[in-house]
Amino acid sequence: MVSLIAAVAVLTSCGNHSADEQVSRSVFAMDTYMTVTAFGENAADAVTESIEEIARLDKLWNINDPDSDFSRINCGGEVTVSHDTAELISFALDMNEKTGGALDITLLPVLREWGFTTGEYHVPNDETISALLEYTGSDKVKVSGDTVSVEKGIMITPGAVAKGITGDIISEIMRENGVSSAIIDLGGNIQTVGQKPDGSEWKIGLKDPRGQGIFGTVEISDMAVVTSGGYERFFEQDGETYWHILDPKTGRPARSGVISATVIGGEGSLCDALSTAFFVMGEQQTEDFWRRSGGFDFVLVTDDDRVIISEGLKDRYTSNGLYGEPEVISFE
Ligand code: ADP
Ligand code: MG
Repeated sequence: MVSLIAAVAVLTSCGNHSADEQVSRSVFAMDTYMTVTAFGENAADAVTESIEEIARLDKLWNINDPDSDFSRINCGGEVTVSHDTAELISFALDMNEKTGGALDITLLPVLREWGFTTGEYHVPNDETISALLEYTGSDKVKVSGDTVSVEKGIMITPGAVAKGITGDIISEIMRENGVSSAIIDLGGNIQTVGQKPDGSEWKIGLKDPRGQGIFGTVEISDMAVVTSGGYERFFEQDGETYWHILDPKTGRPARSGVISATVIGGEGSLCDALSTAFFVMGEQQTEDFWRRSGGFDFVLVTDDDRVIISEGLKDRYTSNGLYGEPEVISFE
C-alpha cells in the first residue's frame, strides 16, 4: 500500500494578489504522486521543465524498466550511466558509511524476497534471509566517474534517496527559472523554495504514523521535510506488521522503536537518506548522530507514543495534541 500524502502541505491562496501567478501540476513517478507548485511570473515554464525532469529521472531510476540505469547495473558488469545516477549512487555509498550501514542501497534482493517490490508479500524463513544477506553490502558497489560496477549477485535500489535528490534537482530548476517561491510534494517528501508568496513560512503537516491525520506541523522556508514511516508500505500477517524499511543487519523490517522519522534541512537528498537511516537507527543513535554532525533537525515518533524533536524546531514545531508536547533534544 502506498500512501499518497505522507505529509500535508498546507497552502493558502491569496486571491487578491492577482500578480502572483500560481501553477501546479501533478505526475505519477517513482511509484508515487508528485505535485509541483510554483508562484510568480516564471511559474509556468519552471513547472513544465520540472515535470519533464521528473519523467527523465524516473526512467533512469526505475528498477522495473529493463532499460533503466539501475536495471543495467543490476545485470552486472561495468556499466556507464548518466551523471545523475552516478551521483546518486556515490551519495548513497557515502551515507552508508556515515550512518554506520543503516542506509544501504544493496538490499534489493532481500526486499524482493519479502515482496516489497511487487506487493506479493510473504515472510521469508531465516535461512533464506541469511542466504540473501550474503548478496548485500555497499562495499560491493564501485563508482568511478560515470561508471558503476557491482559484485556478482549484488542489486541496488535508489528507493531511499531518489525522491530527496529529485527535490534538490527540481529546486535548482526553480531557481534557474527565477522562481523564488515554490513547493514540491514528492509523495510526502516536501521540498520548499523560498517562502510562501506572501512572505510567510510554509506550514507542513507531519502525518500520524498510527492514523489518517497529522500529529503536528513545522513552519519552515527554503527547506525539505522528509518522513520515513512504517505506515507507507506494509503488510500484516499473524498479527504482526511488516514494513518496507529493512535493517540491513538482519534483513528484516527495522524495529528500532521509532515508527516515524522526519528530517528537516536545506538538502532534500540528505533529509531523505537520514530519515530512512534514523528509522533503522532508533532514538539514541539518531540523537548521537545529530549532536555529532548537526546541520539539520529531526522529529521522531516512538512506538510508546512519544514525540522527540531537535532543538532547532522548538519554535517551529506545533503539536496538535495527539502525542502531547514533544521532548526537546539539545546539543549538550
Ligand atoms: P519512502 O520511499 O516510502 O518515502 P524511504 O525514503 O524511507 O521511504 O525509502 C524506503 C525504500 O528504500 C524502501 O521501499 C526500499 O525500497 C528501500 N529500503 C528499505 N530499507 C532500506 C535501507 N535500510 N536502506 C536503504 N534503502 C532501503
Ligand atoms: Mg529516505
